Amino acid sequence: MNKITNHMPTAQLQALDAAHHMHPFTENAALARKGARIMTGGKGVWLTDSEGHKIIDGMAGLWCVNIGYGRTELGDVAKAQMDQLAYYNTFFQTSHVPAIALAAKLAELAPAGMGHVFFAGSGSEANDTNIRMVRRYWDIKGQPEKRIIIARHNGYHGSTMGGGSLGGMKAIHDHGGKLAGIVHIGEPNWWAQGGDMTPDEFGLARAKELEAKILELGVENVAAFIGEPVQGAGGVIIPPGSYWPEVQRIVDKYGILLIADEVITGFGRTGNWFGSTTFGIRPHIMTIAKGLSSGYQPIGGSIVCDEVAEVMGSNGDFNHGYTYSGHPVAAAVALENLRILQEEKIIEHVRDVAGPYLGAKWAALSDHPMVGEAKMVGLMGSIALTPNKATRAKFASETGTVGYRTRERCFANNLIMRHVGDRMIIAPPLVVTPDEIDILMERAWKSLDESFAAIKADGLFVSA
Ligand SMILES: *Cc1c(COP(=O)(O)O)cnc(C)c1O
Repeated sequence: MNKITNHMPTAQLQALDAAHHMHPFTENAALARKGARIMTGGKGVWLTDSEGHKIIDGMAGLWCVNIGYGRTELGDVAKAQMDQLAYYNTFFQTSHVPAIALAAKLAELAPAGMGHVFFAGSGSEANDTNIRMVRRYWDIKGQPEKRIIIARHNGYHGSTMGGGSLGGMKAIHDHGGKLAGIVHIGEPNWWAQGGDMTPDEFGLARAKELEAKILELGVENVAAFIGEPVQGAGGVIIPPGSYWPEVQRIVDKYGILLIADEVITGFGRTGNWFGSTTFGIRPHIMTIAKGLSSGYQPIGGSIVCDEVAEVMGSNGDFNHGYTYSGHPVAAAVALENLRILQEEKIIEHVRDVAGPYLGAKWAALSDHPMVGEAKMVGLMGSIALTPNKATRAKFASETGTVGYRTRERCFANNLIMRHVGDRMIIAPPLVVTPDEIDILMERAWKSLDESFAAIKADGLFVSA
């Protein structure tokens, strides 16, 4: 076969893609008929496709390209590290400079008392590590029956067997099953499920489900609770203010471990280094990936508090690890990404400039006739599409129909915004400027208007 390049005609690339490439989370037969949109370049918040369109990436890739595309420093670091030491493992009493430096840097950035890192290749892998780590921790403490992990419906923790089982998505459990010993409680999604309660009443009620579940299972059987500070893939569900303080109280009271899955909320997304800081959460373990390297290399890990790390290190080997745990090239690139985030004050930019600017414009979307709540924290936000704001009604059409059609209008207007059911979600690169936010919002309004007109014309603007 000839070399496949950016210069090939789009149709030819699409045909090869359809013939050979199985896409994740995709109905491949349907995509084959339609043809994938092929991305060829990126710079800042902008993507270029094979037809030369300039697309504003409202999703930072998959929530990961925090510093934006096209930062050549990361490639320079990767080349230098490959030339110096392309690979070595950290299993057998060896280490290397990038893993040491990255672990030390993460310990410095993490909340006090979280001075240890176990590396993985992705967020899913890191959550698999967490399952085994919390169970092994209780083993060592002489309570081997403490094995159950409580998680939440509609949470997302990856799509390996472990990550997919921690996640509360039925669609994932339906494909391949779910591990035993993981149970789910309700999510703090007031818009969809809060009924007549105020958001704070509902947040409290959902948090108290954790206590009820611990008592039902017996605290002697419960190892940990895991949650995303803000559910990302579940639709950017920003919890009511009452939620996390009550969860924290319950976790403290019963002495179970708290895992904050910071894969999206870490590294500036909410205006602090970690979402746990934004929401006042004190986790024992934080899952990290995505923004850790801004997606320039695949890397993830678990940031572990001193007490858990001490226990884990005190009683024989922890029989767990990945060939690529702390991969030197990925670690070096992550370290350079952290340098850029810190030296260019990108987190401050989110907190003081881009977050407030986008947040105000985003909130104004609730004036649109098809938009109910419009919420944002830092630079992650969502809107709920609805045929009736007052009653927070669902559409009569199958969930996701209106969301998908709205997403298609965004895509056609060169704005990447995702839909989760009938919510639209956004999480642009953290370097987005006010001028770029103006363009993004102009395209968002246009896409919503077009979608609304089409939905009405097709008789879909109807409550369930
Ligand atoms: C993306 C994500 C994961 C999984 O990370 P991968 O790198 O895709 O394995 C885990 N947790 C959360 C909160 C995520 O958003």
